[in-house]
Amino acid sequence: MIQIILIAIATLLIVVSTTLGFVNTIKGNALEKKLIAISTGINELKEKSAASEELAKNLGGEQKKQVDPHWAYDGDLGPAHWGVDYPVCGTGQSQSPIDIRGPFEKTLHMISTAYTTGPLQIINNGHTLQVKVAPGSKMMVNAEPYELVQFHFHRPSEEKIDGTPQAMVIHFVHKNEEGKLVVLGVLLKEGMENQIIKSIWANAPQIAGPMVADTKTTINPNDLLPTEKSFFEFSGSLTTPPCTEGVTFFILKKPMHISKEQVAAFPFSMNARPSQPLNGRKVLTN
Ligand SMILES: [Zn+2]
Repeated sequence: MIQIILIAIATLLIVVSTTLGFVNTIKGNALEKKLIAISTGINELKEKSAASEELAKNLGGEQKKQVDPHWAYDGDLGPAHWGVDYPVCGTGQSQSPIDIRGPFEKTLHMISTAYTTGPLQIINNGHTLQVKVAPGSKMMVNAEPYELVQFHFHRPSEEKIDGTPQAMVIHFVHKNEEGKLVVLGVLLKEGMENQIIKSIWANAPQIAGPMVADTKTTINPNDLLPTEKSFFEFSGSLTTPPCTEGVTFFILKKPMHISKEQVAAFPFSMNARPSQPLNGRKVLTN
């Protein structure tokens, strides 16, 4: 639309300038030059307008991809139907989340985190709030480093312990050089207000949309973890479509706190997949 108007104005100006050039032979040259300059300016504007239209189109497309219409947490697109479009969600034998129950076996893994402070970037992707972190935050599983890619929230917690979920859970998603995924889970128990979550929520979009990159807030994800790192460990999958398996989960036993008001302010009232069958998998502990 803008383009059509601009073309119309440009055409009109060229016609006017030609006519004026004809009528006014003395002053014509100067005036014509001015009109040509204006016309060039309009052409530049037209190019800029086309470029911004293209950008808007791309953003729209990206947004569409982020808000995938093919799955949800309830109704016809709920977890029981994920397998229709994403077969592994229906047929996989090592799916997450699980209800964590004993007996447990002893793990040989030791874990530690070395997360760094960086600018907070946050997106509401239509399924959760997801925080993107600056490169350089790492989790070690024995001697193997895994880079923290993002962390996100589920309400209530997807992992249960002896059948009981917590108010929420944070999943810290890590990837090593071979692309293997490790998720560190921190349960959030209802209680005192959580200061770090306060600053995350303050920047969180309430509806789905593009990444908010300029929050002018910095964050160290390490502040969301308890000092005590006892954990449950099991082999599982992404808890959202496409439910890809081969993901190792470490769920910390000690929860962090979150206030009732903060839970209520999370834009998703329920974004947790139900517990999946163990199918003979062992749950380990340190
Ligand atoms: Zn998750």
